[in-house]
Amino acid sequence: MYLQELKLLNFRNYDSLNIQFHPKLNIIVGENAQGKTNIIEAIYLCSIGKAFRTYKDNELIKLDKKQAYIKAVVEKVNNNVEIEMKLDKEDKKKIKVNKIPLIKTGELLGNFNVVVFSPDDLKIIKGGPIERRKFIDNEICQVYPKYYYQLNQYNRILQQRNKLLRESKGKRIDLDIWNQQLANVGSSIIFNRIKFIKRIGILAKLIHRKITDEAETLEVIYESNIPFKENDKINDINEKIISEFKAKEEEELIKRVTVVGPHRDDLIFKINNIEVKGFGSQGQQRTAVLSLKMSELEFIKGEVGEYPILLLDDVMSELDINRQNYLINNLKNIQTFITTTMIEQLKLKDKENKIFYIREGRV
Ligand code: ATP
Ligand code: MG
Repeated sequence: MYLQELKLLNFRNYDSLNIQFHPKLNIIVGENAQGKTNIIEAIYLCSIGKAFRTYKDNELIKLDKKQAYIKAVVEKVNNNVEIEMKLDKEDKKKIKVNKIPLIKTGELLGNFNVVVFSPDDLKIIKGGPIERRKFIDNEICQVYPKYYYQLNQYNRILQQRNKLLRESKGKRIDLDIWNQQLANVGSSIIFNRIKFIKRIGILAKLIHRKITDEAETLEVIYESNIPFKENDKINDINEKIISEFKAKEEEELIKRVTVVGPHRDDLIFKINNIEVKGFGSQGQQRTAVLSLKMSELEFIKGEVGEYPILLLDDVMSELDINRQNYLINNLKNIQTFITTTMIEQLKLKDKENKIFYIREGRV
């Protein structure tokens, strides 16, 4: 799939913008604070329904304006998709797909797939478990929209269960119904995550070996507080969650919070059997994230049947020449957006690209 056209009105620092993109390589050049990432953010928004730098939709609307409008036209193998979004400082955002209004933001998922890679993604390795769970959850949602609803449902039940624990003041309470409900949804979430990480792990390992000239073996491991086995079915995981609830009953009453379930899980990255988070060099951490992002491209291709588009925000300058080359040479069929402050640094071989110069919210 590829993004043909993007239209912005009162979005971030843009008054009005209408651009047609190249089906392969698009380079967005400009000095700092001119609006490069804002374009990447608008594209991402049309895919996921929320921005990647902020949770607040209002920040996306131009400072002195009340409303913003974004339109993306995406060409796919079998159909075209037109995504429109209206943001309002005083109202909920409204989304249309091919002119049909969506009832929930979640319905947007699966229409238009993107993979974004920005310096912030180093958090997947260096940050806390929340960052890693966010990474897994975002990726699964893109190819499996049902997962988005499972997550929402899980969080709702979790909050209610936590509230009961908080209010119990350490007294024994009957949580059986809540345990059942949480285990029902939680087991699907864990099951999907294990499946996803298994696939991503295999792909990332292959890619990482290529990037490092076979010198490094990358492993991605899903670490759960539920003692799962690789071939567990959803039911097996469900039973294990329930027995963990039993085992942790005392602890939960003392801590007054739910300590069992997927909201406490994590990912571990290892290179040549050593954990990257604590021991990897900066370059190794970056390469591990690069491998992970490249594996997402393949994963989405496998699930959706088409490559997603790739958004590279400010990452080229952080990679060495070998890694830059690997990236550029392996993106032949993937529409790619690169933002940079220095175009001269990019080693572009063929001329199949379009360059956009950005200054103060104008192209
Ligand atoms: P860098 O090279 O530093 O990453 P950039 O070109 O990616 O820069 P952007 O992050 O796209 O820059 O932001 C450009 C400008 O947009 C910033 O100066 C910021 O103040 C401005 N901006 C952000 N949100 C809004 C908004 N809601 N209204 C008006 N301007 C905004
Ligand atoms: Mg930027």
